[in-house]
Amino acid sequence: MQDVERLKQRIPLLDYLRQHHWTAHATGQQEFVGLCPLHHDHRPSFYVNARKNLFYCHGCGRGGDLIRFVELSQHLSFCQSVALLQRQLAAPRVGAVLEQAAAFYRLQLHRHPEAAQYLERRGLRDAALIEELGIGYAPGGNLRRHLTAQGYSLDQLLDTGLINQHGRDTFCRRVIFPCWQDDQMVNLYGRSIGAAFPHRLLPRPKGGLFAWGSVCLFSTVILVEGLFDLAVLWQAGFRNTTCAIGTRLTPAQFTQLCDPPHRFVYIVFDQDENHAGQQASHQLAERLQSAGTKPYIVQLPPGHDPNSYWAAGATAADFAARLTEAQPL
Ligand SMILES: [Zn+2]
Repeated sequence: MQDVERLKQRIPLLDYLRQHHWTAHATGQQEFVGLCPLHHDHRPSFYVNARKNLFYCHGCGRGGDLIRFVELSQHLSFCQSVALLQRQLAAPRVGAVLEQAAAFYRLQLHRHPEAAQYLERRGLRDAALIEELGIGYAPGGNLRRHLTAQGYSLDQLLDTGLINQHGRDTFCRRVIFPCWQDDQMVNLYGRSIGAAFPHRLLPRPKGGLFAWGSVCLFSTVILVEGLFDLAVLWQAGFRNTTCAIGTRLTPAQFTQLCDPPHRFVYIVFDQDENHAGQQASHQLAERLQSAGTKPYIVQLPPGHDPNSYWAAGATAADFAARLTEAQPL
């Protein structure tokens, strides 16, 4: 219960409402009135007392505190509402820690020749692009010390997933790509350069489609599986490439692709031996088509993904030809 009181102090009801675009005018020193966000209101009947941190609506007769407001407006239970608000409070903090970690990893990239060699081998050579994507390197074993020295507590680091339950760095010998959502860093993706399992995200939401803020402006979009695929395509000038990190789109990522509808989506997943990529492309294309977009499935030579296709010597013209040959569903 103490937590709930603290939560209400840290997110004053009036601030919360204003963040959610509630407009009001003052009727007293600490009292505000505006249209009720909870019912179809024509005359302002929703009152907020900022000192008591409470609301009451004379139209629908509902009132209470911040948690009650979230319950009513989001149709959540008490516990769900508290959890939602706690997540909102934590999100910018986690973002700040991730940004610190990503900055540290960026510095490491230039100190570890094995990382630069790995990028070179994957065909990623454009220094400006490496910088733009914020690519870094996690050698492992030194992040915890660095962030602790910056004043972060072990709890905070455990919270982000950067440090595992054994107190060790989660990422070890991995090339790191930061993942953004809107203006907030929400996750880090680490590609192993050694024998460990190749792909790893922190145990947090992976966020929306990669770089969607810029890619969404194109009416034709290329969707790839991995961030190295994206990086080589950006390097070759295909800036309309995005990535879902894997073949399975989250509902939010799917919605991004379909809004606005009628977008052309070129799916370029891996051409694996076991046909998993082809199957995933086909299923996704069907769903995209039913949602109103125009999907195309791009065929690469057997065994290739866009990254390996490039590393094997393909050019922008070769890839453009693959796009032209792509078949609609
Ligand atoms: Zn009301």
